[in-house]
Amino acid sequence: MFAVYEECTVTIASALKVSIDSEFVLTVGGKPVRTDNTAAVHNPATKQVIAEVPVATEALLDDAVKSARTAFVSWSQTPLAERQAAVAAVGDRVAEHADHFMTLLTLEQGKPRAMAEWEVSGSIMWFHEIAKQSLPNEIVLDTGNRKVMSRHTPLGVVGAIVPWNFPILLAVWKIAPALVAGNTVIVKPSPFTPLCDLKLVELVQDLLPPGVLSAVSGDDDLGRWMTTHDGIAKIAFTGSTETGKHVMASAAGTLKRITLELGGNDPAIVLDDVDPEIIAPKLFWAAFQNNAQFCNAAKRIYIHDSVYDKVRDALVAYAGTVIVGDGSHPQTQLGPIQNEPQYRKVLEYFDDCRANGYSFALGGQVDHDAPGWFVPVTLVDNPPDNSRLVSEEPFGPILPLLRFHDEDEVIARANATPWGLGATVWGRDLQRVKRIGLQLEAGTVWLNEVHEYSPHQVFGGHKQSGIGAENSLHGLAEYTNHQTITMNKADGVVA
Ligand code: NAD
Repeated sequence: MFAVYEECTVTIASALKVSIDSEFVLTVGGKPVRTDNTAAVHNPATKQVIAEVPVATEALLDDAVKSARTAFVSWSQTPLAERQAAVAAVGDRVAEHADHFMTLLTLEQGKPRAMAEWEVSGSIMWFHEIAKQSLPNEIVLDTGNRKVMSRHTPLGVVGAIVPWNFPILLAVWKIAPALVAGNTVIVKPSPFTPLCDLKLVELVQDLLPPGVLSAVSGDDDLGRWMTTHDGIAKIAFTGSTETGKHVMASAAGTLKRITLELGGNDPAIVLDDVDPEIIAPKLFWAAFQNNAQFCNAAKRIYIHDSVYDKVRDALVAYAGTVIVGDGSHPQTQLGPIQNEPQYRKVLEYFDDCRANGYSFALGGQVDHDAPGWFVPVTLVDNPPDNSRLVSEEPFGPILPLLRFHDEDEVIARANATPWGLGATVWGRDLQRVKRIGLQLEAGTVWLNEVHEYSPHQVFGGHKQSGIGAENSLHGLAEYTNHQTITMNKADGVVA
């Protein structure tokens, strides 16, 4: 494994030149807001503070909700085509500043430039594609005397709560459909990665009426205030399963609508007819993309006994060519862990594997003198199913490789988890691949591919990986009420 720990050469000033300046503000009622209290944001590759952002008080959240509720009155009545055009224009504005967003994303999140390009380009594409979606009225009965219509109405103010692993994309997955459906939105980024989201909302204010899209940043208290606020109609949340349960409990007080996109422990099943050399890079990136800080990372790799040694060795060889380092360095393929609490959590899995005497096929030794929150890519050779590494979600680059013997056994082991976000099956015999895939309990099952997403493809978790869905018309519908309008001819009410 090569490491690139050189000094970061990109500074916040050069990342934010031209029209994105280096000040970060909240946006409430269409106006920039500064606060007395600020919070530091770090570059995880260097641990240096790169920016200070305002910290919202509860009173400021009340202001944001008030202006969002006022804006809802006219935004919800704005013709769909105008709302769609505004959302597409927001995408155009992000595209104008794409290069700056990519640089800023690498700085605050740590991900390499190529991954930042993927995320920002994806965000632009999402705005444009979701802007084409609509939920037409449905006539369910028309007898001549009576007509019954089913339609969708917007909910009100949506609170969009976002995690730190894909800070822009996962905000856009909420902002775009919520606005198209006629809601107003208050975005709350993760306190670890607020910069891109605050800047995005600030930069598009001239494209939307005041109060339609606001951004508040703060700590986890802010998330709690949002989930209990009686002026917010829905919480669209992406984050851990543990926090998702808190969100659901607090939202119950006001019977808020919720969409919860939560954690995962995705199995990858590797059949006996794969070519170890060809499959190794695919499995590597299925597991380690975004430095394994990916809800849909392959987190348990089940490899058939007959090819286990060869696939493991090919993975070790491929992993040895991957460059870990500062994401702003052009050679870097994997960045650091995004924040210190997560770094400490990932180290626990290293300690646990060592304490239990599990065998490391690769890695295992953390360089505590590294300039950022770096951990080495680590492969653990066949730990037990009840180990922490296999049964929990490490959310970092330490991966268990697991032997299996037969189809029924591996399906049962793959499904033996409270999570059900994603899964993959890899093999040459497509009938077998499909047969296994169709028995997996997961919201997305990829067969001989992974991490393919689309604005028109439904995404959501089974079991404790979530409630509801994002993307597609199913995701759009989650930002609406169902309403039935029934109409009788006026015979019965007039002479
Ligand atoms: P997290 O749950 O710690 O935080 C997510 C967001 O919730 C942050 O904005 C945080 O400030 C806020 N928050 C924290 N406590 C809150 C509370 N009590 N009420 C309301 N909001 C609160 O998650 P994270 O560490 O930022 O992200 C990593 C997790 O997210 C992983 O488990 C990962 O699998 C999951 N994730 C899921 C998906 C998906 O689509 N299913 C996508 C990405 C990440």
